[in-house]
Amino acid sequence: MRERLQELKEQALAQVTEAQDVKALQEVRVAYLGKKGPITEVLRGMGKLSAEERPLIGQMANEVRDEIKSAIETKEVALETAAVEAKLAKESIDVTLPGRPQKTGARHPLTAVVEEVEDAFLGLGFSVAEGPEVETDYYNFEALNLPKDHPARDMQDSFYFTDELLLRTHTSPVQARTMEKFEGRGPVKIICPGKVFRRDDDDATHSHQFMQIEGLFVDKNVRMSDLKGVLEAFAQSFFGPDRSIRLRPSFFPFTEPSVEVDVSCGMCGGEGCRVCKNTGWIEVLGAGLIHPKVLEMSGFDSKEYSGFAFGMGVERLAMLKYDIDDIRHFYTNDVRFLAQFKRV
Ligand SMILES: [Zn+2]
Repeated sequence: MRERLQELKEQALAQVTEAQDVKALQEVRVAYLGKKGPITEVLRGMGKLSAEERPLIGQMANEVRDEIKSAIETKEVALETAAVEAKLAKESIDVTLPGRPQKTGARHPLTAVVEEVEDAFLGLGFSVAEGPEVETDYYNFEALNLPKDHPARDMQDSFYFTDELLLRTHTSPVQARTMEKFEGRGPVKIICPGKVFRRDDDDATHSHQFMQIEGLFVDKNVRMSDLKGVLEAFAQSFFGPDRSIRLRPSFFPFTEPSVEVDVSCGMCGGEGCRVCKNTGWIEVLGAGLIHPKVLEMSGFDSKEYSGFAFGMGVERLAMLKYDIDDIRHFYTNDVRFLAQFKRV
């Protein structure tokens, strides 16, 4: 009986060693330790043994069973560890591989320019105002000293829904609307960026839709020198600290006097070159002191209050700043064009 137990032990341990997976181990467990297994059988036959031998064989059978059991458990842990290690090895990340680039969008250059202009004027105490793109004839023209028969309306032909409703031709109606809200009490200090529309044939410098930023300052004793100071601070913030501005007489129905504002050419520093057409200056915006009639129409006493207004084209600013040669690039959404502004 001793030999039989010894034999069983050796067989079982050999099979445990050979087992390649948990399933094979399970089979060994059932075969040797199960209720119908050979060891149970040996224990059943103990009744035939003498009283002296019985406890010895019983003890040996228990030892053999424990040994096989512990061998199976040890092997099980080893197999599981190996399986986890194999899985980890298979799924390991090669940190030396190049990464996959993430495709990110970018701000549109016009948005970037609007935000930069806003920053410059917010720093000067202005706030941002907005208004509707579908505007009434009154706010788009009449409240800005452009009555129905005014010849300057010809330069701003637009898209009409009815005789009284149109797509705004400039952002100036926002100024009129904002002044009204203040009910004759200043100061009013705003800039209004937004889309505007004109009936125009599209080419390299014209678009039927474009963007403007206008500014307005109404208070007591606002003078031409205030206008010049504000615009010079803006030009130096937007184009660079070495730039200067000059004012040339001009005409707008809603300002008096009116000026065109030029900034010194950044390419030649004022010497004259191809970019500035040898003048040393580049036209960037129109401005002036608000016409007393416009102030009165918006509820301000023109004897007590004065103010200035200015307006500029966002596309023109962007074209000057980034050296862009065709306004249509802004609207055709060519990814190759837009991708150049990722860091702007
Ligand atoms: Zn130049």
